[in-house]
Amino acid sequence: MRPLQELESAFLQYAKSKACIHELNETQRTYNGRPSPLYFAKNLSKHLTDKAKGKQAFDVYLKLENLNHTGAHKMNNALGQALLAKYMGKKKVVAETGAGQHGLATAAACAKLGLECCVFMGETDIRRQYPNVFSMKLMGARVIAVKEGNKTLKDAVNAALKYWIEHVSDTHYILGSALGPSPYPQIVQYFQAVIGKELRMQLRELRSSEKTDKKQDLGVPDAIVACVGGGSNALGIFTEFLDERTALFAAEAGGEGIKSGKHATRLRGKGKTGISQGYKSYFLQNKDGQLSDTYSISAGLDYAGISPILAQHHDSKRIHFRSVTDVQALKAYQLLSQLEGIIPALETSHALSLATRMTEKAQLELLPTPKKNRAHCIVINISGRGEKDLFITAAQLDADNWNQFLSKELSRER
Ligand SMILES: *Cc1c(COP(=O)(O)O)cnc(C)c1O
Repeated sequence: MRPLQELESAFLQYAKSKACIHELNETQRTYNGRPSPLYFAKNLSKHLTDKAKGKQAFDVYLKLENLNHTGAHKMNNALGQALLAKYMGKKKVVAETGAGQHGLATAAACAKLGLECCVFMGETDIRRQYPNVFSMKLMGARVIAVKEGNKTLKDAVNAALKYWIEHVSDTHYILGSALGPSPYPQIVQYFQAVIGKELRMQLRELRSSEKTDKKQDLGVPDAIVACVGGGSNALGIFTEFLDERTALFAAEAGGEGIKSGKHATRLRGKGKTGISQGYKSYFLQNKDGQLSDTYSISAGLDYAGISPILAQHHDSKRIHFRSVTDVQALKAYQLLSQLEGIIPALETSHALSLATRMTEKAQLELLPTPKKNRAHCIVINISGRGEKDLFITAAQLDADNWNQFLSKELSRER
């Protein structure tokens, strides 16, 4: 409890300090490329409007978090917490990672700020995610293989927490999503909330030529769609709009379908209340309360727990959860690539697939009623870019050429 209480009071001080927030904003701007662009996706809008067969028009905007440094929204939090670590006078940072995206962002932030970095990663994940492991080491991080459990993300979280409480005097633990023991969910939500704040300003400007009555804030969309692993990119874009009329949709990983048992759908699946890894939320678990093995084509959504903040908004019906399968996500991955020339991460593809279902009654009836002849304004959070998924997507969509390429590379003389 003591390290968590110290962290909480340091964080509250940090967030109140004008100098700290100025440094945070400047670092986000110069190093991370913020603000990320908001892009009007004209072709995707037409696709959705055509799909609705003239009954309803859609304007679709994309918040391009894929353009963050290291390729995903993860950097917003890693950079913020690395600055917080420095503020607390810590010299070392520890982090957990599953697919390696959070480890990558943390390793980069630590290299930049001169912090020693140690990343815990399951042995199974190390074997599956060579490119990210290589890059973390290149940037000076120590990658430690976790050999407990089934050697994936949940085991890495346990190992990182354990290491942290043993080295708390000089070490800060940078947790990667809006979960874990308090104050972590709130800290991660705070650093990611920049996404929604920027969105409101940018949308206001992009829609400024639309005619409207004076009372309507054009910066408030009718719907926002995001994917949910732990919940940090979803909370990052939703938080600004929780008190607005915006319908909020979250896509969980449906894997091979809920009936198959191979999925990571906590809220629309069979997740039950539990307490694990320092927080109370919905977890996929067996009848003895042990965390279940989950499955998704996208590593970032493949986890048994979910942010307790999101679980609460699920229970109060403020945020609507839906499940998206691997097959549906892969289709959306190709759709955005072809329509807009933007290759989304497989995680993000789940949100995109759900956005294309906005024409269906189950979603449509949750949107605010549009004024006569007006399009529904929909925003999708493009949480990350798809290049990292080449090993999975090429193997699925172009297997013969991909296998030929790999075997040629292997047989090449060095
Ligand atoms: C890690 C990751 C996610 C899932 O994590 P959240 O905490 O739910 O945001 C989603 N998209 C991308 C690109 C990721 O790297």
